Amino acid sequence: MNITSKAAETTLRFYANIVDGKAVPAGDGGTLDALCPSDGKPFAVMARSSAGDVDAAVKAARRAFESGPWGRLTATERGRLLCRLGEAVASHAEELAVLEATDTGKPMKQARADIVAGARYFEFYGSAADKVHGETIPFLNGYTVAVVRDPHGVTGHIIPWNYPLQIFGRSVGASLACGNACVVKPAEDACLSTLRVAELALEVGFPPGALNVLSGLGEEAGEALSNHPDIDFISFTGSPEVGTLIQSAAARNHIGCTLELGGKSPQLLFSDADIEKAAPVVINAIVQNGGQTCSAGSRVLVQRSAYDAFVAEIARRFAKVRAGTHQMDLDLGAMVTKGQQARVDGFVARARADGLPVLAEGRIADGVPAHGYYVTPLMLGPVPLGNALACDEVFGPVLSVMPFEDEADAIRIANGTPYGLVAGVWTRDAARSMRVARAMRCGQVFVNGYGAGGGIELPFGGVKKSGHGREKGFEALYEFSASKTIVLNHG
Ligand code: NAD
Repeated sequence: MNITSKAAETTLRFYANIVDGKAVPAGDGGTLDALCPSDGKPFAVMARSSAGDVDAAVKAARRAFESGPWGRLTATERGRLLCRLGEAVASHAEELAVLEATDTGKPMKQARADIVAGARYFEFYGSAADKVHGETIPFLNGYTVAVVRDPHGVTGHIIPWNYPLQIFGRSVGASLACGNACVVKPAEDACLSTLRVAELALEVGFPPGALNVLSGLGEEAGEALSNHPDIDFISFTGSPEVGTLIQSAAARNHIGCTLELGGKSPQLLFSDADIEKAAPVVINAIVQNGGQTCSAGSRVLVQRSAYDAFVAEIARRFAKVRAGTHQMDLDLGAMVTKGQQARVDGFVARARADGLPVLAEGRIADGVPAHGYYVTPLMLGPVPLGNALACDEVFGPVLSVMPFEDEADAIRIANGTPYGLVAGVWTRDAARSMRVARAMRCGQVFVNGYGAGGGIELPFGGVKKSGHGREKGFEALYEFSASKTIVLNHG
């Protein structure tokens, strides 16, 4: 992202904010350039929204919720609109995939998969909208107690750059299904697909103010949204540092929040694991999206008795990993920004200075543009437990490998970081797989498989520094609504 001044000064396509049913620029005309990570060049322009723009969006959402047509729709009608939006995303899939790949640098096949998943979020939550049932509770004689679920009202959504459309879909899909009106601040480093989908939402008939999306800087528009006194709930996905700011703002405003933060997710390979099956999955879990996935499988823990054989097999395959432009469509693309590239390079330089052995090195393809943000995929190990690569999130294609002795040791090491998002357990022993899965301190465990960020239907979220609250699946519908207990004394 680059800061420019006026949309009128450029010939690049301008992606407007969508506020109160209209496509609008920032109130003061400020803009930001969207840079393509594959070559570092600007390719589009978006609004640099101010606190005033955010305030207008929150007011529009409040009107939509309190008095607009949106607040009066039935759950079935809301669901139909969401399903129509899912269809619109699917029918614009190629346009959106090209936009997502150009904006994030991810390979086209990954961008295409992201659009399919984005459409599916709207479809899933559209179908679920009228299935959020309350309950009745047996109470005293002469009483009937009903527990109904109410939307919060106006929900704020702060979205990161790694999977812009997917995370937008999962967050606003669930919130809109519950009947909230949404104000969204996607990431300045990649967000054009979310602005385009907000445009599609108007085309399929979403009433004004139901879904407002404003681009802008985190410390400007993001801070204004998270501190706004008239939002009722906030959903944040991003770094633990900003998550702390969001939670503090939510506390000051006495509202709830979900925080989806980072991870240092382990894959535990016991000596009886099927390594042929595990190796490609283990590699994909760190290479997918260039490792810029909150649930990337960034640590591989291998039982000592199988360490040499398993590590050799993973390393043999890892050496074939290739990074290239989004159009080359290789295993991974460029990092999303120059800053992210520098962050990964910094971790690698420290690892090399610490003398960590390199087990395998992927390659950057020949002919990539000189100004693209590429990094070389690396597999290192054994990584000592105290080393940064054993406990800090790199958010890049860097795989840390370390040995363990037995089940207890594996559990101790796996749980021994500040994070707790996802874990993978590889073993042919069913009882052990369940014992270890139950012992993991995290939000999702895969046995003999791994889905970095996968599973629209599967509740997802973390513990500890990975955050709290759950998105995805039906559970998100409980986050974006609150129960109200009605006690009727009918004698
Ligand atoms: P980030 O926290 O810097 O940015 C995320 C969003 O927050 C962006 O929209 C940004 O504009 C906004 N923001 C930044 N400063 C803000 C402020 N002061 N007030 C309000 N909003 C602000 O994170 P990032 O660099 O975009 O993403 C990388 C991090 O996010 C990694 O740590 C990664 O693990 C995490 N992440 C987690 C998940 C998940 O689902 N758990 C998904 C994606 C990324």
